[in-house]
Amino acid sequence: MVFRLSIIEAIALNEMKDRLFLSLNAYKDILPLSKTARILIKPNLNANMNALTGNTTDLRLLAAVVEYLKTRGYKDITIGEGTNSGYYRNNISVIARLKVDALAEYYGVKVIDLNYSEPVYIDFEDGIKAGVAREVVEADFMINMPKLKTHFEVGMSVCMKNLMGCLVGQENKKKTHLSLAANILNINKKIKPDLHIVDAVISMEGLGPTRGTPVKTGTIFIGTDPYLIDLICARFASFDYKKVRTLAEAEKRGIIDADYHRFVKEFKIEKVFCFAPPKAGPLAGFIHSPKRQKYFLAVRNTAFFTYLASTKWFGYLLFISGLRQDNFIEEEMEFDGLSFDINKCSNGCVKCREYCPVGFNLPKEFDKDKCIECLYCYLVCPVKAIGFEGDLGFMGEQLRQYDEITRKVT
Ligand code: SF4
Ligand code: SF4
Repeated sequence: MVFRLSIIEAIALNEMKDRLFLSLNAYKDILPLSKTARILIKPNLNANMNALTGNTTDLRLLAAVVEYLKTRGYKDITIGEGTNSGYYRNNISVIARLKVDALAEYYGVKVIDLNYSEPVYIDFEDGIKAGVAREVVEADFMINMPKLKTHFEVGMSVCMKNLMGCLVGQENKKKTHLSLAANILNINKKIKPDLHIVDAVISMEGLGPTRGTPVKTGTIFIGTDPYLIDLICARFASFDYKKVRTLAEAEKRGIIDADYHRFVKEFKIEKVFCFAPPKAGPLAGFIHSPKRQKYFLAVRNTAFFTYLASTKWFGYLLFISGLRQDNFIEEEMEFDGLSFDINKCSNGCVKCREYCPVGFNLPKEFDKDKCIECLYCYLVCPVKAIGFEGDLGFMGEQLRQYDEITRKVT
């Protein structure tokens, strides 16, 4: 078997673009011949917490991939994602909140919410059929762009797990949980992205996928085999692959064999981290144990529980008890602009420039009309020299949980 895998190190936007472009040139042979081929990019937009928290795919990496494809002349590029069920149920567009739609507009590419796509049915365990988005199945070339993060149910979320976002709506996503690892493998059997680009620039350790801790790992993995990349990411995070349920399932099915292990063992990795494991609190740990989960799911899938979970007070109770990782804040952000305090900005660290996905020459040049309102610059400034004008809305929750750590870790 011929494995293809590249690892690059990058933190700042220019490093990311330069090194990614060089690395992607090594994969030119697998790019579609037709410049009008339908290219689908599938990031991880699991929640409305942005990339700096370690939760979702970095807009800078997304921008770099789009730019690369456009430079090569591709004309039909779509960014597609079906965010997690809770946001869908609450009618919250994570794509809009993370400014992926603004980024897509800036670069002149399309964006779709796969939760509203026409389903194509695939086989799950126990004879169940689940619908994945037609656009994913029919794409001529698919690029999977997961975030590297811990996941309290499966251990780690990388290439394999990211494809859960191809399922259409909550009604299909919840079918996965009946046999989580096996069904993630079933999705991967049907959907086979041509290329995987893993955002491990700021990863997440601890209680992922949403309430973990960001860790600056400054790395991007590129390759064609999701099992191999997930295996190498387990080594990168110093995780026992047998405890990552998707990898254990892939080995059980005979997909991961001795060749994989030999390659991963011998592959040279410059940096290795020791991620804190995704240990859930006592209540969540008790309920989500594989032994008890089927009883929990039986309760969760009743109409009464669905109603209860949709109420504000019960949702908040689930959030503070740790049984739910997301807090579905209704209020949108209202952005009136940014201010730059030259007196505070004395160290000229240019971190704001390094993190701006559209490449503004910050802090000197800011163009409100072209700004995509991602707030990366505002969130990374170590001396709070950048002011936000407007109403933070849902973004206030990210600041409450992550403001201090984001400024330190980036
Ligand atoms: S200026 Fe700031 S808010 Fe605007 S696109 Fe750049 S990083 Fe995002
Ligand atoms: S990140 Fe803050 S301190 Fe650094 S250059 Fe930008 S405005 Fe100045």
